[in-house]
Formats: sequence, C-alpha cells, structure tokens
Amino acid sequence: MNDNTPMPATRIYADFNGLVDGPRNPQRLAVVLDTWGSLRDLANAGLILREGLPLIAVDWSDDEEDLEGHGTAQYDHDAQWWVIEFDELGVRYVPAGDRSLVNEFLCVQCRLPIRGLSSSAICKPGQPCPYCGTSVLGPFMPPPAP
Ligand SMILES: [Zn+2]
Repeated sequence: MNDNTPMPATRIYADFNGLVDGPRNPQRLAVVLDTWGSLRDLANAGLILREGLPLIAVDWSDDEEDLEGHGTAQYDHDAQWWVIEFDELGVRYVPAGDRSLVNEFLCVQCRLPIRGLSSSAICKPGQPCPYCGTSVLGPFMPPPAP
C-alpha cells in the first residue's frame, strides 16, 4: 500500500431526510446523525465521533442507486447533535452498494456484542453495555466543552 494513502473514511448509514445546513459552513449541506443505523454503524466500527473525523454517509435511493455524502463529523452546539458536513460535492448518486442487514451491535469501548438492543436504545441516557458499562450512545457523546 502507498504510504501517502490517506486514512479511508468510514461509511455509515445516515437518514438523508434529515438534511440541514452545515454548522461550520452554512453553504454546505449536512446530514444529522441521530438514527439507530448511524449509531450501530459507528459502534461496530469502534468510532466515537470527534470534530473533523472523515466519514461517508450512505442511504438507499432506489434499487440501482445509493445516496452518498463525503465529509467530516461536526457537532452542532445549538441543536446538540452530530452531523456529517459534506464537502463541496454535497449529495452524490452512486451505484448501490452492499445492503446486507447488520444485526450485530458491538460495544464501542470493549467490542463485545451487545444482545437484545433495539432502536429504543437510542433514547437518552442510553442503555449501558452489560460488560463494561459504557453507554450504547457512546459514539454520539458530545465533544468536551470549549
Ligand atoms: Zn462494553
């Protein structure tokens, strides 16, 4: 592998019905990360959101195409949620990727699979991991106060 290859951005699900203006650059579009699918994909990738983290948001468009947005994680302090603020290309249409269903949810901290979670786990303050006590909402933790 070429040493100059940048760290590949992680692809996570995001709900493209939740598009907003970028909190850092209002000229850009952003997608809100407040859904179960986004949380699960981040936890399974072992990622806790931080400002500037490169991410690719993906959603299904139709049978042949996906919606995709490349950007970075940004925390909106007014709305108190994380978004992916897209680059200048905004939302792109790409050929449909892997759509196999993910049922596993790995703890973002100890990486053990947490069973019996459902989308209601997204309610604050979030269910604790039965092994290490980390909230299942760990990936959505707000950044430290400036
Ligand atoms: Zn854990």
